[in-house]
Amino acid sequence: MDLKSGHPFWAVKNGLMVAFPQLDADVNCDVVVMGAGITGALIADELTRHGHDVVVVDQRDVCWGSTSASTALLQYEIDTHATELAKRYGQASALLAYQSSLSAIGEIGELAQEIGDVDYATCESLYYASNRPDHSRLAKEFAWRKQHGFPVRWLSRAALKEEYGLTAPAAILSSEAARVDPYRLASKLLERMQQKGARVFDRTEVTALTEHAGAVELTTESGMTVRAKHAVIASGYESQYWLHKRVAKNLSSYAYITDPVDPAELRWLANSLLWESARPYIYMRTTGDGRLLVGGEDDERDIPKRRDRMVDRKAATLQRKVARLLPHLHAQPAFAWAGTFAETSDGLPLFGQHPQYGPRVLFALAYGGNGITYSMLGAGLLRAQIENRTHPLTELFAFTRLG
Ligand SMILES: Cc1cc2nc3c(=O)[nH]c(=O)nc-3n(C[C@H](O)[C@H](O)[C@H](O)COP(=O)(O)OP(=O)(O)OC[C@H]3O[C@@H](n4cnc5c(N)ncnc54)[C@H](O)[C@@H]3O)c2cc1C
Repeated sequence: MDLKSGHPFWAVKNGLMVAFPQLDADVNCDVVVMGAGITGALIADELTRHGHDVVVVDQRDVCWGSTSASTALLQYEIDTHATELAKRYGQASALLAYQSSLSAIGEIGELAQEIGDVDYATCESLYYASNRPDHSRLAKEFAWRKQHGFPVRWLSRAALKEEYGLTAPAAILSSEAARVDPYRLASKLLERMQQKGARVFDRTEVTALTEHAGAVELTTESGMTVRAKHAVIASGYESQYWLHKRVAKNLSSYAYITDPVDPAELRWLANSLLWESARPYIYMRTTGDGRLLVGGEDDERDIPKRRDRMVDRKAATLQRKVARLLPHLHAQPAFAWAGTFAETSDGLPLFGQHPQYGPRVLFALAYGGNGITYSMLGAGLLRAQIENRTHPLTELFAFTRLG
């Protein structure tokens, strides 16, 4: 599966940061993690830090999958409004999803600080109503969040214009959000865990998974075996290969990044994420060196060659939308790309055992626009499952909720 098109910025900027060997002998471990993207890295880090003997295998160079294409806005705001989640799963579950996501931002922040130099920064998140009908949906969402203590402020049309120069019916301003270089964070986590004793192998494709009493065995393309007490399938959007029935819809998402922009032009955008209520939405953020990163224009094109041809056209569309929204900005694309993306029907991820497998095979499908915060939550959740402990998110993030 070809996961990306064009020139994903993080890979261009960072190059190949770390190299790991191919697996050329059979190995035993406590937990084998299939996939060395941001999801696999966060989970393997959590397990390694807590004394598990971990092996990570990836068929590509590490972080070369969709992690390198991610735009990495860190938000507690899920693509599905809390008010909609509450209708579907009840108030307590909606609150749990939103509160957990909020604490995941802080956890990633702590990790980023420990690791250092991953272009992590906290910022605010401005979520505006794209049209008049969305005004009342946003107002209900704001009321819910305010009632439950989330750090939000309501901006009327006039306030939005005065404070941000934006023309839109209204917006929710959240003071808690962040951004990061996900490729750098994941690469440095993998490097650190190797220093702590985890074994990482890249260019090692897993072709078979066999369950035994008391163990799971992964077989690689070159015939090597990894025998473990548990296997975590953190293979991103390719994980669905291991399931008979699809659990999410694959999309393509597009992005571009500018050269560094004059701070006088960026103004508040230097410390803010911006997104909207339309679906698919346009969104933007900046980087530490003052580039503007814009994403959106998702479509259902899942054929890499067709997607490749669309990258420049989609970047031009995004650029036109930015010009309409923020006419003072000079935001020409320097690099543009696309990445495969997957969404579940409720916007929540899937972590844990799948009915097709026994309890030693655990999936980590951090699907949706909040993939990275979900992975942080999934790391704690899967460690609890591996250690035979309960975790508050087990049911809400389980496959069983999809029926
Ligand atoms: C354009 C785009 C924008 C995004 N924006 C955001 C955002 O703003 N905020 C956010 O939180 N999330 C965002 N995401 C989602 C987030 O980046 C994802 O959660 C993440 O990319 C998925 O990470 P992953 O590690 O699960 O998958 P990947 O990075 O794809 O890693 C999976 C790894 O598994 C390996 N693998 C697959 N099959 C095998 C096999 N058989 N054997 C061995 N290895 C295998 C692959 O080679 C790959 O390296 C975005 C994603 C995209 C594409």
